[in-house]
Amino acid sequence: MDIHEYQAKEILSRFGVGVPQGALAYSPEQAAYRAREMGGDRWVVKAQVHAGGRGKAGGVKVCDSDVEIQEVTEGMFGQKLVTHQTGPEGKGIYRVYVEAAVPIAREIYLGFVLDRASQRVMIVASGEGGMEIEEISEKRPESIVRATVEPAVGLQEFQCRELAFKLGIKPAMVQQMVRTLRGCYRAFRELDATMVEVNPLVITSDDRILALDAKMTFDNNALFRHPQISELRDKSQEDPRESRAADRGLSYVGLDGNIGCIVNGAGLAMATMDTIKLAGGEPANFLDIGGGATPERVSKAFRLVMSDKNVQAILVNIFAGINRCDWVAEGVVRALRENPVDVPVVVRLAGTNVEEGQKILAQSGLPLIRATTLMEAAERVVAAWRSDTTRNTNLRAV
Ligand code: ADP
Ligand code: MG
Repeated sequence: MDIHEYQAKEILSRFGVGVPQGALAYSPEQAAYRAREMGGDRWVVKAQVHAGGRGKAGGVKVCDSDVEIQEVTEGMFGQKLVTHQTGPEGKGIYRVYVEAAVPIAREIYLGFVLDRASQRVMIVASGEGGMEIEEISEKRPESIVRATVEPAVGLQEFQCRELAFKLGIKPAMVQQMVRTLRGCYRAFRELDATMVEVNPLVITSDDRILALDAKMTFDNNALFRHPQISELRDKSQEDPRESRAADRGLSYVGLDGNIGCIVNGAGLAMATMDTIKLAGGEPANFLDIGGGATPERVSKAFRLVMSDKNVQAILVNIFAGINRCDWVAEGVVRALRENPVDVPVVVRLAGTNVEEGQKILAQSGLPLIRATTLMEAAERVVAAWRSDTTRNTNLRAV
């Protein structure tokens, strides 16, 4: 789960990381008011969306008066900000952060990531701030410095000092850098983050080290341990299909194709998508209904898949180990009776009680296409989708 910049800054500052003074606003009037309340004569207005690259896309603007803040934010609220990280549809701006403009002397890149190869938290830093890490690793790979943290002892001071020296931090400020690095690391570990990125971390002309931008991503599987983090979820920033699924306890990832997949288990979902592609089709989603594929869950899955307007055929592929094919078949039949769909549906069941399951499907009177193997199922759904779309196009042409 991602959170907003202002939320990440609030968290990091609790762990001793320096951040500029700032305040959140939900409207242009409030943004101007917040600046007056804060004082000063120069502010940076920052669109709060779950994506980087806002600066280049017009989502970060320097303002010299409260009137200007009001004008600038009137052009932001309710708009979609399109950055190189949002995809072409962009992300809605419903909150802006008004921050004191700080005099920047130097920009540094700082990231904490989970390095799967070493099974450690890895710190990645570069003196070439202001660029995205992808760009740094392409243009100035030699500027990147790294350190991995031994989990049993945590991030050590000597490691922080070493990083500070490599980044060319002047001796009088090394201690401040150590506090910043340790703060980020503790926030990462204690809150089960999977990523903390401060880009840029700046050194101001009056020798302060401040996180000027902050991004944090959390491990969804650990959110139950952190109710105060779960509360920071902002559904306006998520793919609506994915947040609807998450609310119903289903794992869903929206894709660009037109064959909806209802599958149990992530491995089977991946294999199903591969087989659909092999058969010449394109999956519209990755939907894992989990182990307990009860009729209710199958119904929810159908409603969710059908709410995606791109879906032109559905493949249900269930392997019942702990589950039972007859329950799944009942779920499919019930879902389709309650909410009839106007696209072809192919069902492939395997495992426990498969004969009973097939019987329920056959006796339902519903126009279901059945398949035994995964390859057969994929071929049938692609064929059904092709003939269905051709027929529809012909009808439209007539
Ligand atoms: P993004 O990474 O989404 O483009 P940032 O928060 O990194 O957004 O801001 C982009 C740039 O704007 C920063 O690299 C920095 O140069 C400038 N900037 C951001 N906040 C401030 C601030 N409070 N004071 C001065 N400059 C800022
Ligand atoms: Mg940034």
